[in-house]
Amino acid sequence: MPSRLSSRLLLPLVRQTMLVALMTCVSASFADEPDGPDVPHKVESSFQQLVESVEPSHAWNATNLAEHRQWQQRLEGVMKELLGRMPERVPQQVKWVEKERFDSFTRHKIYVQTEAAYWAPVYYFVPHDLERPRPAIVCLHGHSGIWPYIGHAETDAERKRIEESELDYAVYLARQGYVTAAINVRGWNETAGHQDSGIKHLPRSCTHVTMDSLLLGMTPQGLRCWDAMRVIDFLQSRTGEVQGEKIGVAGLSGGGTLAMYLPILDERVRFAMIAGAFSTYRQSIYPIRHCICNCLPGVMQYAEMADVVGLYAPRPVLLINGVDDRIFPIDGARQGYEQLKKMYTLLGHPERIEADFFEGGHAWSNNKTLSFLEKHVAD
Ligand SMILES: [Zn+2]
Repeated sequence: MPSRLSSRLLLPLVRQTMLVALMTCVSASFADEPDGPDVPHKVESSFQQLVESVEPSHAWNATNLAEHRQWQQRLEGVMKELLGRMPERVPQQVKWVEKERFDSFTRHKIYVQTEAAYWAPVYYFVPHDLERPRPAIVCLHGHSGIWPYIGHAETDAERKRIEESELDYAVYLARQGYVTAAINVRGWNETAGHQDSGIKHLPRSCTHVTMDSLLLGMTPQGLRCWDAMRVIDFLQSRTGEVQGEKIGVAGLSGGGTLAMYLPILDERVRFAMIAGAFSTYRQSIYPIRHCICNCLPGVMQYAEMADVVGLYAPRPVLLINGVDDRIFPIDGARQGYEQLKKMYTLLGHPERIEADFFEGGHAWSNNKTLSFLEKHVAD
């Protein structure tokens, strides 16, 4: 019975050998950790290789109008899918809760119902003595929350930051005679729920908004744009104050990202001012740490930011970027702007794509906003 004998002898030996091998392996892996094996085993090297192997499948390269329209149609369908499922629409309801008169405008605080269990808080600015309806601008804030974006500061340092970064564009544009609606974007301030860890200075729930919306087949960007679309419904109902066919969007940083996506979902958005958000995914959101709510799942397989903005060409777009913005690098913005110029030229409207690449960092700039608006939305 040599085989039985050998298995009786061999089994314990094999077990022992395996145990020793396992222990050697475990201790070796810890012992080796400082240097690592001589093979790529860091996530950075993996993601570097993965991104280099991805070519956006819907990159723009049209040479004539027919090709452009075909491309536009294909990518628009993809982007609408990526932005996710939207909530059930509900009849428009608005609650007016506060009214404060300032030097040249009145600021109303309202709540606009955007879905069955959610009312978006909005600061609605109406210039005094309107002789006729005016163009309106939906203003979307970034990760500092709503307060600095409507010019509210508790300290001198906050006031200085608002001035230097020109964050209060909703107020500035209202002073210039535009009706503005500054939405308290979903997940910040009074709308916040589960607090983002590590964030002490303001209520913010980007992590949970992202986690829960993704699990439901939605996205934070899609939901936040949905709220903006329902605010546009409200603006269009204000026929005595607002020119319903002249509604646009303005946003900085996280608000700039939303301003970049909103015109895809809503063709009533006739112009966009996108600040501190336009670059390339490859140079900004991919390699540099950003809030999770900036990541639109899957987008880099299909398109770059210039393709995304090009989806609504030739609607007027103003790109605003500080040349020293460290989280949305200017090189990517310049690269994308060059592509958009080609696209707008092909469509016969090169003057409708503009850029304000100003000396500064991650901030808004009013260097070109008024001339842009006068050129594109004046009567
Ligand atoms: Zn966020």
